[in-house]
Amino acid sequence: GYHHQHTGSAGDSSGVFAKFRAKHSRSLSFNEGTLGSRTVDLRASTIKLDTEDTDLRLCFRILTPLKTYTLQAENGVDRMDWVNKITAVIVSLLNSHIQQQHVEIPRPPSNVTSPNSHGTSEIEQTGYRAEPISSVLRKIPGNDVCAECSAAEPDWASLNLGILLCIECSGVHRNLGVHISKVRSLTLDVKVWEPSIVELFCTLGNAYCNSIWEGSLLKNESVDEPKATSTSVPKPCAKDVISLKEKYIHAKYVDKLLIIKDALQPGDPPNLTNIWQAVKTDNIQEVYRLLAISEINIVNTTFDDVVSIELYHHVVDAQDSSLESQKEEKEQHDPLDCQRIKDSNDPGNCLQGCSLLHLACQGGNCVMLELLLQFGADINMRDFHGRTPLHHCVALGNNSLAKHLLRRGAKSSITDEGGLSALERAMEKGAIKDEELFILLNGS
Ligand SMILES: [Zn+2]
Repeated sequence: GYHHQHTGSAGDSSGVFAKFRAKHSRSLSFNEGTLGSRTVDLRASTIKLDTEDTDLRLCFRILTPLKTYTLQAENGVDRMDWVNKITAVIVSLLNSHIQQQHVEIPRPPSNVTSPNSHGTSEIEQTGYRAEPISSVLRKIPGNDVCAECSAAEPDWASLNLGILLCIECSGVHRNLGVHISKVRSLTLDVKVWEPSIVELFCTLGNAYCNSIWEGSLLKNESVDEPKATSTSVPKPCAKDVISLKEKYIHAKYVDKLLIIKDALQPGDPPNLTNIWQAVKTDNIQEVYRLLAISEINIVNTTFDDVVSIELYHHVVDAQDSSLESQKEEKEQHDPLDCQRIKDSNDPGNCLQGCSLLHLACQGGNCVMLELLLQFGADINMRDFHGRTPLHHCVALGNNSLAKHLLRRGAKSSITDEGGLSALERAMEKGAIKDEELFILLNGS
């Protein structure tokens, strides 16, 4: 059993929660016996151990958006047992909560409500079932067959390349390594197929992706040059031996032999300005194309790589190392001291040091975000003011994008140059009403 223990004044704990308490002055202590008559919504709660504080040696706390409960176990084993069991309940509640949000319930087909329909259909008996992911994805242009060998009804996918594959070609892709292709099953990896991924696939598809990766094959077909095609790597068919498929897939994605490159003069910088513009204008297919055709990975391109005009913030060069100028430079990094952000109240008004991912957060399109992450964008990159993409989403009040980043591994504990984390910036704006966001911000 437990002994209830009153939590003291605001001075007895440290870290995030102390700030949370100080800023929101929520009621934190409770009277002896009140817990017995209370129902706590664990779905919106996190659990914390008080390991640092010797006074609270056998205690743990349940943090809810409205209240904190400090509980004391009789011994250490007992405490861990309770913490583990409550954590398991929170995780299972949260999982079911997220799954509920992601299930898309299709509209009832017209024949069910139609007066002409008689008897019971399967739909009426079993309720409305979501369409299987494989049939949704195979409707996308080109996705009725494997992107490599044209085998029918592909059951596998490359998440980052946005294509469907047969089982044999998926094995070849897996051997390329995850930096080139992330292979997942349409039927076995059910949790992978979140709405943003499905939408990314709908925007890409085998037909579009092959028009990039196999661009020279299409070009040769259209101008009818049989000699040119015979010199390039032949596209395999479903019945071909696996070694032919391996050779083709390697040439296509590792050596990029079939891509038509943009006509660049030698010595020209890569397509940095183009990809910045494509993200800015929300052109997902063009961003994909530029990422695919580039010799080097340009997914972590920043604003400073793109602009040719002088940057807003003067960066002190290494030679000018007087204390005065160092102090001056340090001060201008604090986002609160940035005149541009202050004047407009828009965090996107100063893009210095921002990456494509920061820019995508400004645009608010989670499918663009997904594409950049699939191509290895640094989710925790800090801009000139030390703000991560998560800081930007929080500043913009875009909770769904913030949650997307957190589920993908964004760290909420990273501080900006003003010394505050995304969690603290969120609390600065007021109470966090979104329960799931509260949990995710606390847990990373
Ligand atoms: Zn295949």
